[in-house]
Amino acid sequence: MLEVRKLKKKFGNNLVLKGIDLQIKKGERIAIIGPSGCGKSTLLRCLNMIEVPSSGKVIFDNKEVVQIEDELTLFRRKVGMVFQQFNLFPHLTVLDNIILAPVKLGVLTEKEATKRALELLDSIGLRKKFNNYPDELSGGQKQRVAIVRTLIMEPEIILFDEPTSALDPEMVGEVLDLIKKVAERNITTVIVSHEMNFVKNFATRILFVDAGKIIFDGGIEEFYNISSDDRIRNFCQSLLNK
Ligand code: ADP
Ligand code: MG
Repeated sequence: MLEVRKLKKKFGNNLVLKGIDLQIKKGERIAIIGPSGCGKSTLLRCLNMIEVPSSGKVIFDNKEVVQIEDELTLFRRKVGMVFQQFNLFPHLTVLDNIILAPVKLGVLTEKEATKRALELLDSIGLRKKFNNYPDELSGGQKQRVAIVRTLIMEPEIILFDEPTSALDPEMVGEVLDLIKKVAERNITTVIVSHEMNFVKNFATRILFVDAGKIIFDGGIEEFYNISSDDRIRNFCQSLLNK
């Protein structure tokens, strides 16, 4: 469904993504891991075109995604994104954060969006917080609201960029549980995460990125069995020692 070919991304002279080829199929649950600064966030941002690739193609449902505003808007509706720092608007209530995009883009009327938002909040036990501001929520609650904000657009795929790494440990579980539920709704998921216990149970495919390249692409068993690549072995070791 979503594919990149020969994707490169440069910031100034810094070539961050050095030619990525990747095909994501419907229903996959992909975990991306790799050392800090290797280009994981940049890859996700290119996958939904928040960041414009320097070269290469992004292809969605066999069609190249082009830099035309209306088409990008449509594309981003289908490819949701959840960030490490939640990115909720601090001056908007929980409800207004959730209904902003669907109402603005004319996907739902305000009345429809409100009804749907309240149902979604209900499903995560946060209906009573609809009129609160993000500041009044815990980190875990904020991230779950951010996920609901993506869900209301009914995306086909959601990209999660280290969704639990800004959270206190006791809140990690509630967010990962919601991500599991999202995947069970048949939404394709790509998650950057170093929560290896979660990744082990959740992912159907692992990508290991190092210095702007995918150096491993395969199943979880294979990932744990590889001993041939020092970079992966050392990195896994460092995770175990954390
Ligand atoms: P990761 O998510 O794997 O930690 P990133 O994709 O955030 O890595 O960053 C990869 C590299 O790209 C880093 O060297 C970072 O400094 C650089 N980088 C990321 N975003 C920008 C940007 N907007 N402008 C300049 N450099 C950037
Ligand atoms: Mg990152």
